[in-house]
Amino acid sequence: MSDDSSVLRIVWIYPDLLSTYGDQGNALILRRRAEQRGIRTEIVYVYSSDPVPVEGDIYLLGGGEDRPQTLAAERLRSDGGLKRAAESGAAVLAVCAGYQIVGESFGDDDDNPLPGVGILDIRSGRGETRAVGEIVADVAPELGGGRITGFENHQGRTALGPSATPLSRTLKGIGNDGTSEGAYQGTVLGTYLHGPALPRNPALADLLLSMRVGQLQPLPPSWGERLHEERLAAVM
Ligand code: GLN
Repeated sequence: MSDDSSVLRIVWIYPDLLSTYGDQGNALILRRRAEQRGIRTEIVYVYSSDPVPVEGDIYLLGGGEDRPQTLAAERLRSDGGLKRAAESGAAVLAVCAGYQIVGESFGDDDDNPLPGVGILDIRSGRGETRAVGEIVADVAPELGGGRITGFENHQGRTALGPSATPLSRTLKGIGNDGTSEGAYQGTVLGTYLHGPALPRNPALADLLLSMRVGQLQPLPPSWGERLHEERLAAVM
């Protein structure tokens, strides 16, 4: 990893375990929207055999199947780097399996509770049905509001503890429990949105960037905003 502090370091956690659903697009859109504003970036790929660096700016975790999810959680817990980075103010976007992993606990493939990384006050367990389909939700006003869309595909349901706040209120789809979608706590954000989430919701990408670089100059609308509008019109 570069030691140049003017470079925004985007850390993609465990491409070998947590990349089943195309969530790597989140790293690419963060890079694009940063570089359009003249911010230099580096994407660091951290495989599950590697230590997690603590000097990253934005950490990304994607979705995955149950067994890779369990393995990823065990490795992240014993490594400790993601927790240390989050505790020192790094931004984190964790999607679906990644979202459940960064919480306090989640159910394995037999729904036995396993410990998570513990940087987001959520607990996940198996739901009666699989939540599959398009999801639309309104982001918490404290995070700037706005409507987000994505695709969900998960068996788990998630309950928030007192230190976590819902990322959004669900209008269509299930999310955490049919009423809220995702959660945040400081600079740690979790969501069930695939699609992937950030290209479909450029405002969410900018929210993560602004956590590390402060106020951002607006960008002219591009295909990201068009995609967002198109998906909203198709689903609502
Ligand atoms: N295995 C988890 C669940 O079904 C996460 C699935 C995913 O990442 N899409 O709840």
